[in-house]
Amino acid sequence: MDNAKLELIRGDITRLNVDAIVNAANSSLAGGGGVDGAIHRAAGPELLAECIQIAQSRRGVPGGPCPAGDAVITAAYRLPCRHVIHTVGPVWHEGGREAELLASCYRKSLLLAAGAGLESVAFPNISTGVYGYPKDLAAEVAVGTVRKTLDETPGIKRVIFVCFDGENYAIYSRLVRY
Ligand code: ADP
Repeated sequence: MDNAKLELIRGDITRLNVDAIVNAANSSLAGGGGVDGAIHRAAGPELLAECIQIAQSRRGVPGGPCPAGDAVITAAYRLPCRHVIHTVGPVWHEGGREAELLASCYRKSLLLAAGAGLESVAFPNISTGVYGYPKDLAAEVAVGTVRKTLDETPGIKRVIFVCFDGENYAIYSRLVRY
């Protein structure tokens, strides 16, 4: 466990100049609302074109081109960061495999980043918008999974949790201690 690598900020993830920002995408990779819409708007149409290409190459994958819990990496085009990692959070239904799938989003995103030789990764609060995951439960999964996965990914030096809303920021402030 390496708390020194964890950072917390409140703001807009599209502004960050890091190696990769993570997108809370949907399984079609065709863009959407919330943070997904903000990332595509800021990156420009080339990002959607690359996502559509990846979706086509993954046709036939059960659960869609990028099923919940999975992640893919693209370039970042007009964004100030270098890459976008698109991961698909679970829709909250209570009592299913949501925690496992949400943990998989954070873990696979970090493994993809490490595999690409990246050092700094920024995460939004995946699934806590339209997908309805309770914010306190999602934050525990997010911080716990990142801490565990960092033991396997020594090349990653910084993980930034980016909270857009005050409620998430307050919850993360209690969980991310230095
Ligand atoms: P999901 O479908 O996974 O729930 P949403 O995009 O609806 O995804 O919401 C995920 C989280 O992203 C929410 O907590 C929302 O407040 C946050 N969010 C929305 N826009 C931004 C942004 N520009 N930067 C960072 N976080 C954002």
